[in-house]
Amino acid sequence: MIDSLRIKRICSDPLDYDRQIGKLINHFLRSDYPLKVIKKATIKASKVDRNKLLTYSSKTPHQRIPMVFEFNYKLTKLSRPLVKDFKYLRLDPSIRDLFSDPPLSARRQPPNLRSLLTSSRLPQPPASHGNRTCNKRRCQVCKHIITDVPFIPPGTTTKIRPPPLTCDSSNVVYLLVCTRCDRGNYVGETGSKFRLRFNNHKQTIRDNTQGFTVGQHYNLPGHDLNDLKCILLGSSFTSQQIRRNSETKWVLTLNTHIAGLNRDLGIISDYTFHNRGGFRGGPRGPGPPPFQKILKFFQLHKTKDKALFQ
Ligand SMILES: [Zn+2]
Ligand SMILES: [Zn+2]
Repeated sequence: MIDSLRIKRICSDPLDYDRQIGKLINHFLRSDYPLKVIKKATIKASKVDRNKLLTYSSKTPHQRIPMVFEFNYKLTKLSRPLVKDFKYLRLDPSIRDLFSDPPLSARRQPPNLRSLLTSSRLPQPPASHGNRTCNKRRCQVCKHIITDVPFIPPGTTTKIRPPPLTCDSSNVVYLLVCTRCDRGNYVGETGSKFRLRFNNHKQTIRDNTQGFTVGQHYNLPGHDLNDLKCILLGSSFTSQQIRRNSETKWVLTLNTHIAGLNRDLGIISDYTFHNRGGFRGGPRGPGPPPFQKILKFFQLHKTKDKALFQ
């Protein structure tokens, strides 16, 4: 019936309408629909005035709660008892308040072979590079995240092709950059969600926390929070040690310990400035390692050993 009405709405020429209805009847017959049902629906549709179908009918608002069932021919007569026996439901005081009007019975198409075996959506190949925004309504990081590929941090010539990470990524090494000047690059790492760490940075800016280089930089003349941008450089580190090695690699690559806001070389500082504390809020690691270990670190950096710089 619905298909017949749709044809009637589309076909302005009666001959065209007859031709399309014929096709529809054949289609239903091939699908083994009973002839009686097809005939009844076709006659019913032919009696409907086309002009009436073309005028927009506004729906009257109602409070009826829909009861959705998967379509089954045995349930076709379900609506009648629902309406008829509704009065018995209303005898129960707890239900009476919930159902001021009879429930609306609705059917949805059950899964069929086509829906089980195929999908109308084409698989999208995952992007291999570039940070992305999470697009969550209340996200406070999206507007700061840089999605450009490649990206060259201010004051450097290093081309970065960041991996496909978002504000929600965790276990990451990240870079903060300043859009106002080229002295605001900062490399950091966190094992927790990036958005938490980023919000901490924002808080130090709002509070202009002394001793926090990031917080102090964005309080310089002409600077504000809108100048702060971020980019995630890597994730999926198998240990904290490897993540911090990567952080150090980026500090050295982008020279942020000299021309930026990093106060030290990250993990190397554990070896050389064990009790320095400062920005990172205290000593790191078990204590100054033997000189051989520091030497090995620099040798590995020079040879770009993959085990160290993941
Ligand atoms: Zn976001
Ligand atoms: Zn700046």
